[in-house]
Amino acid sequence: MNTKILNFHPFKEVYAEEFNRAPKGFEEITQEEFAKSKFFYYSHIASEYKQITENFDGTPIGTGNIAIPIKLFWFFDGTGVGISNNWMEWTVKFFRFGCCHKYEEYSKEIAVKRNLPYSGGRCMHNMVCTKCGHIYQYDSSD
Ligand SMILES: [Zn+2]
Repeated sequence: MNTKILNFHPFKEVYAEEFNRAPKGFEEITQEEFAKSKFFYYSHIASEYKQITENFDGTPIGTGNIAIPIKLFWFFDGTGVGISNNWMEWTVKFFRFGCCHKYEEYSKEIAVKRNLPYSGGRCMHNMVCTKCGHIYQYDSSD
């Protein structure tokens, strides 16, 4: 199980403990969107199998009681993608979930003022998502 990620921000805002419930922001994407997704250039930090019948808020998803069997792949930033197969038709559908981050770079002054982590250095970038508050720090010299 993925109980470890429950206490790790921002997953607690996105992760649904119920087996049949989708993570927050769950939506189908096209094959092209999946091809451009993080799946191909980041390592996932967790994966899980679910049979989804409900949205994150508990409302029914799709039609009838047909569950979406899906393998979810979680990334470091609380987002992820899912791959669902239809074993009757031998087809595959793709999904995404989590925040559509909108990052904004912040200065040391802002970090102090808002109690945000800050890493100094000429090539360090300190970013915060204006929608969910996820912090993303990276070194652009690599
Ligand atoms: Zn975000």
